[in-house]
Amino acid sequence: MASKEQLRKVALYCNEYDPSRNELIDSARTYEDKYENCVNCNHYNKEGRCTLNLIDPILSSMAMDLNLKS
Ligand code: SF4
Repeated sequence: MASKEQLRKVALYCNEYDPSRNELIDSARTYEDKYENCVNCNHYNKEGRCTLNLIDPILSSMAMDLNLKS
């Protein structure tokens, strides 16, 4: 299970990020909701998973990026 911070970073790296469901309730968004985050994405389900199964692969590639840089 990815942490809140990880989900935010995953959404930044993700090409499939789709926050469209929040457009209608834009004025009701909290400060935090305005940032890209998997929890704001249409592909994120109630069980806390990405329906496209992209969270784990993206976390892995982020980890590889960090390894390459260190
Ligand atoms: S929920 Fe899935 S599709 Fe949406 S931003 Fe996260 S990893 Fe990408």
